[in-house]
Amino acid sequence: MKIIVAIKQVPERDVRIRIDGAGRWIALDDVEFRMNESDAYALEEALLLREAHGGEVIVLSAGPERVGQTIREALAKGADRGIHIVSDTLADYDALGLARLMAAAIRNEAADLILTGLQSDDLGLGQTGVILAELMGIPHSSLILKIEKADTGLKVLRELEDGWFQHIEMPTPALLTIQSGNTKLRYATLMGIKKAKTKELRAVPADSLGVAPTPVVLLDSLALPSRQKTTQILSGTPAEAAAALVEKLQQEVRVL
Ligand SMILES: Cc1cc2nc3c(=O)[nH]c(=O)nc-3n(C[C@H](O)[C@H](O)[C@H](O)COP(=O)(O)OP(=O)(O)OC[C@H]3O[C@@H](n4cnc5c(N)ncnc54)[C@H](O)[C@@H]3O)c2cc1C
Repeated sequence: MKIIVAIKQVPERDVRIRIDGAGRWIALDDVEFRMNESDAYALEEALLLREAHGGEVIVLSAGPERVGQTIREALAKGADRGIHIVSDTLADYDALGLARLMAAAIRNEAADLILTGLQSDDLGLGQTGVILAELMGIPHSSLILKIEKADTGLKVLRELEDGWFQHIEMPTPALLTIQSGNTKLRYATLMGIKKAKTKELRAVPADSLGVAPTPVVLLDSLALPSRQKTTQILSGTPAEAAAALVEKLQQEVRVL
């Protein structure tokens, strides 16, 4: 099975967020980056499928030069090769524009399966995967926890609300968006890190793909949520204060 996994490089979780000068995005100068969480699970699913059934796992990532580091991490974990859509101006592409770039970069690969994460941990639109499926003209299913190969194509386990799940059979080629958390992620071994240096990583300049920008128009500038902390002293006897507290927890905070 030929599997393409879309992996986004996102800022580290514990980074101190600051808004950039233009008020459009977070300031990235002293930020550390990592692999988007649900994409790491997508990669793991792809590697498990290849181990069980053979084939090839190709990592696809769009972004500036630094994204190469995240692709190498995926190669070190076991992916076979990488495709890097090189762009310093991804801010000019919304999810549709990005999916168009990705579709143009992988159309000739004729993959059996394309995996994306459910959503990115920074912008979190949750749209890129399903739009990519539409552009590629293949069926998709979202929120997938488990993938098995079946005679007719794939058997997948999909998460619904409230602890409900759905089993779906679908043909290939197909695109699945992967939910985090169903399996244990592997670490890159020392040998894997060494091997990754020699694996193919093809750089495709975004402006060679003939995709027009689709910039997001912000109606307002970005702002950090303001911290609001108020202290109220409940007066009266302990019994009266306790009753007032219970009422507040029920009526205002709505946690009881
Ligand atoms: C000012 C500004 C600056 C930006 N700078 C960057 C940047 O430096 N790098 C950047 O990647 N995006 C950047 N973006 C966001 C970029 O436009 C989004 O990647 C795009 O809109 C997709 O939205 P999303 O990240 O919410 O993806 P979602 O739809 O939530 O992502 C779903 C899945 O799609 C795949 N995916 C998403 N993005 C990528 C990617 N870049 N490469 C491979 N797979 C991907 C992943 O598998 C991900 O789990 C910027 C946006 C703005 C407004």
